[in-house]
Amino acid sequence: MIILDLEWNRGYDKTPLDEILQIGAVRLDRPGGPILDTFCAFIRPRVHKKLNRTAKLLPEVKASLASDLDFPTVYRRFLAWCGQDRDFAAWGADDLDILRQNADHWRLPPPPPRSVTDLQTAFSLMLGTLQNIALWRAVEYCRIPESFTYHNALNDAMYSALITPWLSRESLELATRPRWTLRYLLTPCPVSPGRETGPYSSLSAALNAKASRRGRCPVCGAVFFIQSWCFYQEGTYYADLHCRRHGHFICRLTLVPGGKGGWRGRLDVPVPTSSLLHDFGLAQQGETHLCRGGRRNRRRRRRNNRKDRNNHE
Ligand SMILES: [Zn+2]
Repeated sequence: MIILDLEWNRGYDKTPLDEILQIGAVRLDRPGGPILDTFCAFIRPRVHKKLNRTAKLLPEVKASLASDLDFPTVYRRFLAWCGQDRDFAAWGADDLDILRQNADHWRLPPPPPRSVTDLQTAFSLMLGTLQNIALWRAVEYCRIPESFTYHNALNDAMYSALITPWLSRESLELATRPRWTLRYLLTPCPVSPGRETGPYSSLSAALNAKASRRGRCPVCGAVFFIQSWCFYQEGTYYADLHCRRHGHFICRLTLVPGGKGGWRGRLDVPVPTSSLLHDFGLAQQGETHLCRGGRRNRRRRRRNNRKDRNNHE
C-alpha cells in the first residue's frame, strides 16, 4: 500500500490548478504494517507566480522554491517508485484527485490506482462519526509521539501510516467506497415489503401522486413525502429518504405501463447493495423530476410570484 500526501498552491489566476509543491509517500506491505520505503520530492512551481496564504505558511516552502525539479520529472520518478503497487491511501479524499489534475495539466498519464482508501474516513468510522478529523488530532488521539512538523508531505504521509494499525479491516474497506454511499451503508436497512400504487393516467401524474411519494422509514414506519425523483432509466426513479431517527435510505419507484396508456407503480426501499448504490449514483447525476405539490416547489413558486410582483411595481 502506498500512502500519499501532497502540499500544493491554489492559484487564483486564470489557470485553475492546485499546483503541487511537494510529493511525499510511504510504502507499507499492508495497513498497520511497518514502513518499507519512503519517497519525497520538492517541486518548483511553474504555473502560478504567486503563493496563496496557505502555501506561504508551509514550513518548507523554500525547499520548493529552490528546487530544480519540475512536476513532470518528479511525477515520473514517483510512478517508477510506486512500481507495481496499485493500492493507494491518503488522509482525506483530495490528494489523488489533485495528483490527477496536475498530471492532466502536464499531459502526463493519470496515476494508476487500483483502489484508493481515505484514511481520514476510516479513522472517523472507528470513532462512529462521519466528521472530518484533522491529522494532528488523530495523531494526538492515538498517542503517537509528535516527532515531526506537520504540513510536510513526507511527514504527514508518515503520520498517516502510523495511524493505520489503529484502523479495522472493516473501516478500511468502507473507506475505499465513495464517501456519499456511506450514509446508506452505515444505516441498517431491514427488508421491507414494497407497495403498489396507481394506476395513473400519465407518467407525470404517477410521479406527482401522493401515494407514489409516500415513502416510509423501513425501521419505524414514519412517513416522509418525496419532493423530487432522480431519473435512472425507463420507468425507474430514485429518491433519498431521511428519517431523523434512523438515517438515510434509498427509495425506488418503478413504473410500468398499466393498459390504456396508463401507468402502475411500485414503491420500495431496497437494501443498499453495491449495484443499487452504483445505479443510484448514476441517477443522481441525471435528470431530476421536482414533484408538483412538493415543499421545494411551493417555495420556488412563492419566490417567483414575489418576483412577478416586484417586476410589476
Ligand atoms: Zn425511522
